[in-house]
Amino acid sequence: MAKTNENYALFLDFDGTLVDIVERPDAVTVDPALPKVLTDLEDRLGGALAIISGRPIAFLDGHFAPHEFDIAGLHGLEQRIAGRLSMCDPDEHPALRDMVARLKQIVADKEGILIEDKGCSVAIHWRLAPHEKDFALATAHAAIEALGNDYRVQHGKAVAEILPSAAGKGKVIERFLHESPYRERRPIFIGDDLTDENGFKTVNAHGGLSIRIGAGETIAKVRLGTPAELRHCLAAWATDGSLPFNEDDC
Ligand SMILES: [Mg+2]
Repeated sequence: MAKTNENYALFLDFDGTLVDIVERPDAVTVDPALPKVLTDLEDRLGGALAIISGRPIAFLDGHFAPHEFDIAGLHGLEQRIAGRLSMCDPDEHPALRDMVARLKQIVADKEGILIEDKGCSVAIHWRLAPHEKDFALATAHAAIEALGNDYRVQHGKAVAEILPSAAGKGKVIERFLHESPYRERRPIFIGDDLTDENGFKTVNAHGGLSIRIGAGETIAKVRLGTPAELRHCLAAWATDGSLPFNEDDC
């Protein structure tokens, strides 16, 4: 019988963690071997594997179809555990909807700045126009000034995202840890960006294992170099059932 790892709950960020970051966020690709690695790991973990991303669930599902993982999208504004889906309704965010329209006008003549409308949040990307970073950040902060306390800015790699204050990866991981099969397990969260630090804080508080991909200041306990390195570790774990993270490498 396959070795199981039913004392762990595994939470995985998507961009920059499972997949490489690309210049245009809609051009991301999933390594062809990854879906099977993740479904094998999900079996080993007795189902306690979830993807925790800032992307919408619909976008993430499209990369893993027909399989549907447990998942949190939009930094936890959407989630699905064991097929039970709760979604965010953009109609409940009329001020944000107005702001998305305004942002599109504001950046209309700014080549390389992309507005990614996610319904209940909006991301301003400047990866294609690094010289516009200050403008993009100022635009995001002006938007938050106008929206008030119900929204905040989440900084990331060449992106600033405006999202409801209630959203955050730490909070959603906490919610998963109250649900079967995640409950009473040692959480592992793997991420690559500022938005993931909030998740690292939660798993550290639970005595879990936090793993940061790539450079940057972090409270994570373990660091890995690249998404490719992580995929290698996950494939090894799926194959032999031994946790591949030894607090420093694999
Ligand atoms: Mg990421």
